[in-house]
Amino acid sequence: MGAYTLRCLEGGHIVHDEFSLMCEQGHKGLLRSEYAKKKLDIIDCKSLFRFYDWLPVHSTVKSDSAPVVFRNEAMAKELGLEDLWIGFTGYYPERGAYAKSCTFKELEALPTFARLKDMGKNVISLASAGNTARAFAQVAEDTGNKVIIVVPKKSADRIKVTEDTGKTKLITVDGDYTDAIRISDRIAKMGVSVSEGGARNVARRDGMGTVMLQAAITAGKIPDYYFQGVGSGTGAISAWEASMRLNGDGRFGSNLPELHLAQNIPFTPMAKAWGEGRRSIIDEDLPKDKGYIDEVYADVLTNRTPPYGMAGGVFDAMTACKGRFYEVSREAATDAEKFWCSFEDVRPDPAASVAFAALMNAVEECKIDSKKKVFVNMTGGGLERAIKELSMVSVKPTSSIKTDITDEELRGIVNE
Ligand SMILES: *Cc1c(COP(=O)(O)O)cnc(C)c1O
Repeated sequence: MGAYTLRCLEGGHIVHDEFSLMCEQGHKGLLRSEYAKKKLDIIDCKSLFRFYDWLPVHSTVKSDSAPVVFRNEAMAKELGLEDLWIGFTGYYPERGAYAKSCTFKELEALPTFARLKDMGKNVISLASAGNTARAFAQVAEDTGNKVIIVVPKKSADRIKVTEDTGKTKLITVDGDYTDAIRISDRIAKMGVSVSEGGARNVARRDGMGTVMLQAAITAGKIPDYYFQGVGSGTGAISAWEASMRLNGDGRFGSNLPELHLAQNIPFTPMAKAWGEGRRSIIDEDLPKDKGYIDEVYADVLTNRTPPYGMAGGVFDAMTACKGRFYEVSREAATDAEKFWCSFEDVRPDPAASVAFAALMNAVEECKIDSKKKVFVNMTGGGLERAIKELSMVSVKPTSSIKTDITDEELRGIVNE
């Protein structure tokens, strides 16, 4: 049985765990899991549950997904990097990557469903513009759980699974991502489902943190630099937290990786806030008109309310690890993608291409020491191929609603 406790990072006290997302005193800070085992034993298991010791779960669920870390010497040489390590989560069998939903959101979904099982529950609800929804829908199919997903109407066909046996109740809303979040929050209050909680869900963070664990194990040491495309920045918080645990283990060095985080122009609120040394995101950090949606390359990175300023959030992660933000243009991202594809036989998720563009920029402008250990987290890829090879199908929407739907009508849809 996995042994851990949850601590409130604002109050500093231990929190009783009931799939808790906040402490009972109402602090806004994140909770963090603390594991009894300080030295990580890796279990002989294909999936990310090989890191069971450092996942906040007692149960596990069946899966083939795990973070994969590899090198590409030719690519590193062309970039002029001496010690480049690549993390890849997606569908890329040649490299041993079998995440059918094709992004590292799958690493969040797996322990989240295991945690739900620990609590004797089996329905999750969430709002997502795409990748999170696909991950939870696929894992629900694979594990026999259920998920209620609210999406903006235009993103509905993105939610593809290898089989649609009705594990997902898909609700499309006539509005944007923010509207979908509002509806999902209303559903969570109805008591039928558990809200997955985003960055507040320790299973999501520690699930994503397994990428850093695998990086340190494969490369033998915690990297000096960590590159990722960020929308919420949860992955960066996870990388920081995993690195602290690795420091405690002692076998992987005693450094924290510099966080090199990339956002996609014109949607770069955290880059702006951090650039001005602010702990809070202000309205001026966000694009003024809605046209940004057509301008960004990776719309999965357009999160308006990232866990940035609260205790344990992105600002604290950046303060502890140091590093920088990058504002990456669509053109830089597509150029980086072309470069990547000339070395690796898999198309990255646009968000991963944004990360790769930041890496190329860092090298070109000497923002990093080319001799040091560099890790780039390619957070997704291989979707077109997975859709074809695994004959994936779009989840059929169960209902289509407007933002002014009444609670009674919404309850009817949820319970039906
Ligand atoms: C969600 C997502 C990200 C952003 O991750 P955060 O750490 O939550 O900001 C990056 N890449 C892909 C492919 C994603 O799906």
